[in-house]
Amino acid sequence: MNAFSRRDKPIRIIKGPSASKPEGEEEHTRAVLEAGVVHSLKPISAGLGVLYAVFTIIDLMTLPAGIAAWVATVAAITAVILLGIYLALSVKILPARYAHPLAFAIAALILANSFTHIYLAKDLQQTFQIALILVGAGSVFTSSNWLVMVYALALSGWAWMIYTLPASNDWTPFGLALLISILLSAALHRARVNTLVQLENLRVQDARRKSELETVLKSTEEAQRSLATSMAVGQRITSILDLDILLAQVAHLIQERFGCYYVGIFLLDESGEWVVSRAGTGEVGKLLSEQGFRLKVGEEGLVGWVAAKRRPARVDDVSQDLRYYQHEQIPRTRSELVLPLEMGATMLGVLDMQSEQRKAFGEDDVPFLQMLADQVAIAIQNASMYQVEKSRRRLAETLYGVGRALSGTLDLEKVLDLILEQMEEIVEFDRAAVMLSTNGKLEIAASRGYPDSAHSTHVVMKENDVFKEIERTQQPLHIHDVLQHSDWQHSPGLPQARAWLGLPLIRADEVTGMLSLTREHPVPYTEDEIALASTFAGQAAIALQNARLYDQITRFNQDLEQMVQERTEALQAAYDQLEHLDNTKSDFIRVASHELRTPLTVLHGYTQMLLDDGLIRNNSLLSQLVLGIQAGASRLGEIVGSLLDTAKIDSRALQLYPAPVSLSSLIDLVTSGLVKSFEERGQSLEIEGLRELPPIQADPEALRKVFYHLIVNAIKYTPDGGKVSISGRYLGNEDSSPDECAVELVVSDTGIGIDPKVFELIFSKFYQTGEVALHSTGKIKFKGGGPGLGLAIARGIVQAHGGRIWVESPGYNEDMCPGSQFHVVLPIRQ
Ligand code: ADP
Repeated sequence: MNAFSRRDKPIRIIKGPSASKPEGEEEHTRAVLEAGVVHSLKPISAGLGVLYAVFTIIDLMTLPAGIAAWVATVAAITAVILLGIYLALSVKILPARYAHPLAFAIAALILANSFTHIYLAKDLQQTFQIALILVGAGSVFTSSNWLVMVYALALSGWAWMIYTLPASNDWTPFGLALLISILLSAALHRARVNTLVQLENLRVQDARRKSELETVLKSTEEAQRSLATSMAVGQRITSILDLDILLAQVAHLIQERFGCYYVGIFLLDESGEWVVSRAGTGEVGKLLSEQGFRLKVGEEGLVGWVAAKRRPARVDDVSQDLRYYQHEQIPRTRSELVLPLEMGATMLGVLDMQSEQRKAFGEDDVPFLQMLADQVAIAIQNASMYQVEKSRRRLAETLYGVGRALSGTLDLEKVLDLILEQMEEIVEFDRAAVMLSTNGKLEIAASRGYPDSAHSTHVVMKENDVFKEIERTQQPLHIHDVLQHSDWQHSPGLPQARAWLGLPLIRADEVTGMLSLTREHPVPYTEDEIALASTFAGQAAIALQNARLYDQITRFNQDLEQMVQERTEALQAAYDQLEHLDNTKSDFIRVASHELRTPLTVLHGYTQMLLDDGLIRNNSLLSQLVLGIQAGASRLGEIVGSLLDTAKIDSRALQLYPAPVSLSSLIDLVTSGLVKSFEERGQSLEIEGLRELPPIQADPEALRKVFYHLIVNAIKYTPDGGKVSISGRYLGNEDSSPDECAVELVVSDTGIGIDPKVFELIFSKFYQTGEVALHSTGKIKFKGGGPGLGLAIARGIVQAHGGRIWVESPGYNEDMCPGSQFHVVLPIRQ
């Protein structure tokens, strides 16, 4: 049976006998000639039958009464017989072999009519009728033998007539005519036979050509069908780029087109040792592919044989072939055709076609089906390449996505979770864990697919532990099947692992942990999967490192924040304590000052009384002593006053009694009290610009203290012979409102100057640079120390007036004496 004609019935050629048996040509020709007679007998018998019926009547009417009855009777009998023959031929097909005998019988019957006529009428004229019969016979008879027998019958009958008739010389021309008619008849016979033979030859030739044409047509049709099938399969498969769908479609199409019992496609695995079922028809095919059914190359089944030999195997009866591998799920296979799927020199796999019928695959089918298999191989190669390209793109996209996802967070917990989540997108696993190495112990930091109890598992490393290996090589470690791996540590409580992949997490050339991927079924990780997972592990390690660093920084920040808070609290406590102490000190100063004032007043009163006493007044020594006591008491009173002012300023209890103050008069008042001091120190005083100043709203007593302290300081920190200047200027213009107007007074000296570093410090209370030893030497002595309150009181009073006070000096230098300038700005209005 031909594989291609099984479904589509072949065109059957209706062959003539000679077309099938050209060698029996003679016999065939005879049959054809006999058939020619068969066809003419019916009209001849009908025509002659009618003619003789007419003759019967004519005979009765025209012939002499003596013979008319006889001749008409014979004619009538002839007519009846002929019409009878016609009827018989109409209802029944005359076998060809009886055609000539019947024709001979008819001829004999007709001849009998002529003989009867000649005999009874003794009229040789009837010889012409015989001649006509012979001519007619020549054009009817196709067998020479039978025709000769007719001739013989006619001639013998006619001769017998001549013999029975009275002697006459008239027979000669009739005889001659008879002979000529025989010659004519023979010629006609020959011509007819020739025509029939030629016609038959032409018909046979025609039939042969037709047969040849049909053979050609048939093979063209087959080729067309093959081409169409091939094209259909080719077209359908080349547009499919998904390998699984492609293989399933190919199997299905081939089964559909060629009516196979089973079609399977096996592809060579990576090792090249097995051919694995990748697609097949029906449920069996699906099952085999899902189970990963495989056959050993060169050892198992025709499939294995073809994969090894790389040439087709066609088996008409599989029960007779030792190579045949009977799969229990495909029991009805009788014949099989297995074709290699090759792409150039590369063996891709095999195409397996099985049929329930013996000899289902013809020898002729093999080249075509191999052509189809080659097309399938190209499609497989294309799909594989597309798949590779697609998976590369997917890989790049996935890695990009993974990278983005991983770098999107710095939360360590989230990163760990993301690593496992993203890993699921890349490689298939049943359980996975991120294990981090700390102090020689591997700890599961995050996991998927593990029972809850396994989370806190510390995996203690053995000498041959897989992690040791990964740590040493810094490379992924793949175990195809852990059951075959003697060093494998099975963790109790976990399902049995089969395929395992460990990926190092490397940070600064150090393996800090690993990603552990486990499959609980024995499907090893492919090279692609390992490469992909390794790249991913690299990214995961970076993300982990970043998250850890971030974690450390966050913790450090938290510690720092806590420390700052603690310090701030401590500082606040210290500040509060200091403030408390300061308040206590201020309270003490205020109390002490008040307490000191009373005895000082008493002291002052008594010294005044002593000075008023005549006895003392007349005694210069005693007067000097009492004056000394009075000066000391005044100085003490001043200091106590300063202490009281400071205490008031600190406690914001300073009371101002503003009144219009002329700064010029005020400065005159202050300096007039210090004339003696200027003289003692040989210093000059220069005052300028004060008289032009408008009067300001201020507490005159308070302002007096400000300038007193400033001028005393100027005298004190200026060497003998120096100069103290006091200048004033109006701050403001015509557009300024009275509230914005102010005056600025500058107290300058040619003294030792002030280090800019202490510009602010000197305004704090109790700050002073004078030597303690010089303190008691007097308030205007060069660099004579004071209680360090003057400037603090000055700033307090100026600020209480809403003014500003500051110092300017090139610096501190006792040799060069660069001098200092104290600026006081006071608003005109309070
Ligand atoms: P005291 O003069 O009692 O020490 P002050 O508060 O008046 O206290 O002055 C504080 C300090 O400022 C002084 O000890 C001194 O060192 C410095 N100082 C004040 N005025 C001058 C000045 N005109 N030239 C140089 N130093 C000065």
